[in-house]
Amino acid sequence: MQTLESFVAGRWAAGSGDRVVLDNPSTEEPLAEVARGGLDLGEAVAWGRDVGGAALRAMTLVERAGMLGALSKALREHREELLDLSQQNGGNTRGDAKFDVDGAIGTLAAYGAWGKACGERGWLVDGEGVQLGRTPRFWGEHLRVPKVGLAVHVNAFNFPAWGMGEKMACALLAGVPVLEKAGTASAVLAWRLAQLVVGSGVLPEGAFQFLAGSVGDLLDHLGPQDVVAFTGSADTGRKVRGNANLIAHNVRVNIEADSINAAILGPDVGDEDEVWNEFLGNVVVDMTQKAGQKCTAVRRVLVPADRADAVAEELAARLADIRVGDVADGQVRMGPVASRAQLADVRAGIAGLQAAADVVCGGPAPIADKGWFVAPTLLRARDPEAAVLHEREVFGPCATVVPYEGGAAEAVRLTNRGGGSLVASLYSNDRGFVTEVVTGIAPWHGRVWIGSEKSAGQTLGPGAVLPASVHGGPGRAGGGEELGGLRGLEPYTQRVARQGDKGRVSRFTSGE
Ligand code: NAP
Repeated sequence: MQTLESFVAGRWAAGSGDRVVLDNPSTEEPLAEVARGGLDLGEAVAWGRDVGGAALRAMTLVERAGMLGALSKALREHREELLDLSQQNGGNTRGDAKFDVDGAIGTLAAYGAWGKACGERGWLVDGEGVQLGRTPRFWGEHLRVPKVGLAVHVNAFNFPAWGMGEKMACALLAGVPVLEKAGTASAVLAWRLAQLVVGSGVLPEGAFQFLAGSVGDLLDHLGPQDVVAFTGSADTGRKVRGNANLIAHNVRVNIEADSINAAILGPDVGDEDEVWNEFLGNVVVDMTQKAGQKCTAVRRVLVPADRADAVAEELAARLADIRVGDVADGQVRMGPVASRAQLADVRAGIAGLQAAADVVCGGPAPIADKGWFVAPTLLRARDPEAAVLHEREVFGPCATVVPYEGGAAEAVRLTNRGGGSLVASLYSNDRGFVTEVVTGIAPWHGRVWIGSEKSAGQTLGPGAVLPASVHGGPGRAGGGEELGGLRGLEPYTQRVARQGDKGRVSRFTSGE
């Protein structure tokens, strides 16, 4: 069996201590093992900061951008192998595997392109200069300079490729070295990616490290110039945010956590409208793509009360067409969830929702003798106010139809009971309804996706995270923010105001 190694302080090492076996979630066949600990993570932090940081800061943004483009190309050359690993270790259909692997390759390429336009300097210029005194002898300009620390990226199991790619694209372009900690359940793909990154020789020594296994005491070695970007559950996110060392040193922490995302159907949408079809299609995709293991997937389907039965019936009919099984079979449209633990969690979650909702199709019962399979499960709320519907994330192919009475104000109130979400999608052609809902939910969301007859058939669904738009959300969703073009570099830089004589300040800004 393959042993996954970490790449820390310039060498590959297997670690020691407890071992975790990673399997193929379709067949339960063991694929690899990884040791939980045994690595000197203090040495890794110092090596990244001192060796990698110095090398990256000596480069211009254009040079760093060139590196990202080259990395994207190096990974693309191994795309087929990466897709195979994603199917084997992640239980992903080929389409789901592409979502992750192509997402990584595309995001690296996008930041490579954006960085090329940033100029031959090592920092970003932030806005226009401003005269601060009576004459230009007192002038101010803002810059964003790279932090002189290490970016520690703790990734979730569901996007081993994209999660690593999107985070490292931003940090490396900013000029900050990275240490990528993979989610253990799907670490085979992350490990192979790490091998390709190291083997490509594109990055300077120290700019990239990879940790397979547990996070151990890594966070205890960080200081004020380091950055932690975490993606995972709200529970683990709270532990990271509460780490005493991170608090003591005011280490910048970005948390991307879980989210009870809503899809809202407007009262004006009839079943002849194009947007009705789009609504149903997008909900089914979100429930079944990656077996519902997407942080942006719809969990609550908010529907005018008089349409709730019709919507539940239509969704159940479409879900019945989804073939579930071993992803090695090309006809299969939904694979298993990623691990035995994940399966147990999803079953328990569905049972929890049943306290306030009835199962329309699917349910928690086992559907196969082997593998971590769960049926696409739709519920219909008996009590739309029940807290469990708005607070429990079932991270699998599961959503609940939640009826709302009245108009926009009720839709807004119920949506915002999610306590802060990554994305909400809204389907309506009624301008008044759209304006009221968007205005009401915007402060509680990182992204609001609007489906209408004008955009039907021309958009990617609300579950897709695009590098040009910000990703993240307030409150329960973690309060973090990633991507959004060059905004994604912000966590890795220090904004500094330069004040003084205009000539001197401007010369520095332009890098003369
Ligand atoms: P998780 O159990 O919270 O784990 C996330 C990461 O944290 C893993 O790498 C995990 O390592 C590590 N970890 C575990 N305990 C830790 C600790 N005490 N300190 C620091 N790190 C620790 O989440 P998951 O099961 O991998 O992922 C699913 C969850 O992620 C879902 O809730 C989903 O909504 C969320 N998610 C959010 C986003 C987003 O962008 N907002 C994206 C994807 C997923 P091990 O794997 O070794 O335990």
